Amino acid sequence: MRTPIPASVSSRRRFLAQLSAAGALTLAPRALFGADQPARPLGVALVGLGSYSTGQLGPALKLTKLCRLAGVVTGSPEKGKRWAKEYGFPETSIYSYDTMARMADNPDIDIVYVVTPNSLHARDTIAAAKAGKHVICEKPMAVSVAECDAMIAACREAKVQLSIGYRLHYDPFHEELRRLQRTQEFGPFMKMDGGFAFTMGSKVWRAERKWAGGGPLMDLGVYVIQEACMATGATPMAITAKERPKQRPDFFVDVEESLDWTMEFANGATAVCYTSYNDNRNDFRAEAKGGWYEVGPAYSYNGLRAATSRGPVDVAPLKSQQALQMDGFARAILDRKPSIIPGEMGRRDMTVVEAIYASAAAGGKRVEVKA
Ligand code: NAD
Repeated sequence: MRTPIPASVSSRRRFLAQLSAAGALTLAPRALFGADQPARPLGVALVGLGSYSTGQLGPALKLTKLCRLAGVVTGSPEKGKRWAKEYGFPETSIYSYDTMARMADNPDIDIVYVVTPNSLHARDTIAAAKAGKHVICEKPMAVSVAECDAMIAACREAKVQLSIGYRLHYDPFHEELRRLQRTQEFGPFMKMDGGFAFTMGSKVWRAERKWAGGGPLMDLGVYVIQEACMATGATPMAITAKERPKQRPDFFVDVEESLDWTMEFANGATAVCYTSYNDNRNDFRAEAKGGWYEVGPAYSYNGLRAATSRGPVDVAPLKSQQALQMDGFARAILDRKPSIIPGEMGRRDMTVVEAIYASAAAGGKRVEVKA
């Protein structure tokens, strides 16, 4: 049974309806019970119950304060039933990829979290927006800038918020990098270097262009792009990129295996970057006239370490980047503020990715990033 709505809430709903009519950011009004805290946590539905949902997002939703798992979208009804039992949501909140439109009638679901292979992000994000739900979409946002545009337009039209699963925005080691950028305590970071690589053991969709949109650049390289943008507070303006010769060409048939690229920023700063599915790297360093910042492991879920020219970055251990990230999005929805990781940021990174691939395809020619 639904809880009766107090007068203060119904007047808030009227206010929200006015906001909506004015074309401003709309919210899931039913989620907005109480002044600061929702009477119930916002309901999240995970789309795709693969390794990231199972290993990270599901467990993180047991730690969140402002949201809880309220449904799933899966190709396997049996798996859905197991999740419903474990997380305590009704089996009526199990959907397939073809029945997502029916979520529109489910008041328990406020946020849809898209965790499918990259080339399905646009399809699933647009379906969620059409069902009137706020969306978190995993990285990379999509496989092209054109898809990002369609996703942003769908969310704008549905007046729902769109955020990207860049969990490091909620990690305290990375917050220190952003703080140094904001305060300019060391001056601008002018020389950066970073890499993210692992050795792929068995061939999965991540090594197929059809599903991944590319190779390690799509999966791992986006973290290095993000990091350099955090360090500079800017978007690179030009790229030079080169693919390394493949060691396992049978494995990486239509995607790159390893890629080097350099990003140039308008103020003359440069970032020398690397990604690979046949190597090991997990680091980032930024140098300014007045000091430096270094993090490594840089992009993992935990066990990160960072230092600056002043000494180790000393922060309290974090239970879950993902729990903070999802609560951060819920907070933005409740406060009617834009997400700190909006769809536009995912789109920006895709403009850089497209420039990197264009430069690599042209044998390392300098390519400008198209805004
Ligand atoms: P995965 O292969 O383990 O899971 C993918 C899920 O999508 C599976 O449940 C699969 O059944 C489902 N799916 C639906 N249609 C599919 C199709 N046509 N082909 C293949 N699978 C299909 O992958 P994952 O590691 O969970 O990654 C999912 C997404 O999450 C990717 O976009 C990835 O980049 C992102 N991810 C982000 C992080 C992070 O730290 N932010 C970490 C891991 C993965």
